[in-house]
Amino acid sequence: MKYYDKLIFELSKPGRQGFTLPENGYGRCVKELPEGLRRQSEPELPEVSEPDVVRHYTNLSQMNFGVDTGFYPLGSCTMKYNPKVNEEVAAMPGFTGLHPLQPGVDGAKAVIEGLDKALSAITGMARFTFEPCAGAHGELTGLMIMRSYHMRRGDLARTKVIVPDSAHGTNPASAAVCGLEVVEVKSNAAGLVDVEDLKPLLGPDIAGIMMTNPNTLGLFEREIGEIAALVHACGGLLYYDGANMNPMLGVVRPGDMGFDIMHLNLHKTFSTPHGGGGPGSGPVGVAAHLADLLPTIQVSGFHGNFGVMLRAYAYILMLGRQNVKLAGKYATVSANYIKESLKDVYKLPIPTVCKHEFVFDGLVDDGAREGREGATTLDVAKRLLDFGFHAPTIYFPLLFHQALMIEPTETESLETLDAFIDVMRKIAAEAAEDPAILKEAPHGAPIRRPDETTAARQPILKYQDA
Ligand SMILES: *Cc1c(COP(=O)(O)O)cnc(C)c1O
Repeated sequence: MKYYDKLIFELSKPGRQGFTLPENGYGRCVKELPEGLRRQSEPELPEVSEPDVVRHYTNLSQMNFGVDTGFYPLGSCTMKYNPKVNEEVAAMPGFTGLHPLQPGVDGAKAVIEGLDKALSAITGMARFTFEPCAGAHGELTGLMIMRSYHMRRGDLARTKVIVPDSAHGTNPASAAVCGLEVVEVKSNAAGLVDVEDLKPLLGPDIAGIMMTNPNTLGLFEREIGEIAALVHACGGLLYYDGANMNPMLGVVRPGDMGFDIMHLNLHKTFSTPHGGGGPGSGPVGVAAHLADLLPTIQVSGFHGNFGVMLRAYAYILMLGRQNVKLAGKYATVSANYIKESLKDVYKLPIPTVCKHEFVFDGLVDDGAREGREGATTLDVAKRLLDFGFHAPTIYFPLLFHQALMIEPTETESLETLDAFIDVMRKIAAEAAEDPAILKEAPHGAPIRRPDETTAARQPILKYQDA
């Protein structure tokens, strides 16, 4: 163990100090505190010098992996590089110091209106609300709009929503929270919604369908025109989960595909750092015939996560119309390049052209022979860390047992993609030769293989004396 891997409490020396406070100009305030509120003993804080504090936090920050430390091909998450100019804009004191109730916030309003216009143009929707604070929050909001639409028409029988079996888990969860019953529609062998399976599900009890296009396998739902016509003919609406909007930028608009309601994940497609789970923004857009329902649904305080909107607006203005259109195409080319370069060593269950991401189903040769256990997708993911790459998404979508879902995004250079491909090939060769190397990985990370369930359910968040 390196000296500075120690916890900051272990570096503590009684009396050591890393700061000097200015003289208290207000007298000894402690006298004014009522006796009952005063602490009886000194707080147990580490006593360390300034260099100890700086090294402690700098080392901690380097124990994690981020888009700013390396390639992060986490499928479904669009971990694109976030330009630093976004941060500069979001940190401008004129914005950070605002309160939504103060008069004269015209500049902030103009940002929201400008972003609304840009996103409406990009998606083919009529109008957006920016209140939802993440994609899942947007799904719930969108489904509430769907329910309101049917209730306003006095049609109370529509209590079911159709969700493809390839959908992100938040789709059925949002439907359930909204009080809708989920009906699953199957995928066909090509990985697309099976239209023949869909037809018998449609009827007077269907509120609508939730779809992601391209879907979670990275495949464009070619039959979306027919699906939209069928769902509309039965009286239902189409909800677009916009988490996969990245490859569609400048290529196809959800509004033109026939969708009535949608959300965008600004933190994914429009570049806000989101590796730690937030902050996010999931604005919901609606077609013109639903625009008057937007203000009736309030799902968060004031206007939502304004800082994320600023980043998205800065990003869109910086790219400009022409370059926004290129982002989707480059994301698609990058994904197909990796897919074609690795498909002889990783199993590719669906060999067609993909959009921004695709799914492998484990190794072609996992090294399993004569009682020797083969390497799994988890082992490949752990081994990648030894080479400085974040793992792809693993074991999702659930359609394949050894799913390895790769999304490179448009922000990586050809050289980075080639380096990743080399490492993936090296790992495949190691697996075929001696899977034990993968099973022991990662060899160089600060921690090896935590029990992920216990780490999530019973995390140890405070210092414990050995
Ligand atoms: C990320 C994602 C979501 C959920 O979005 P959050 O912002 O994480 O709530 C929904 N659907 C798909 C397809 C996603 O990739």
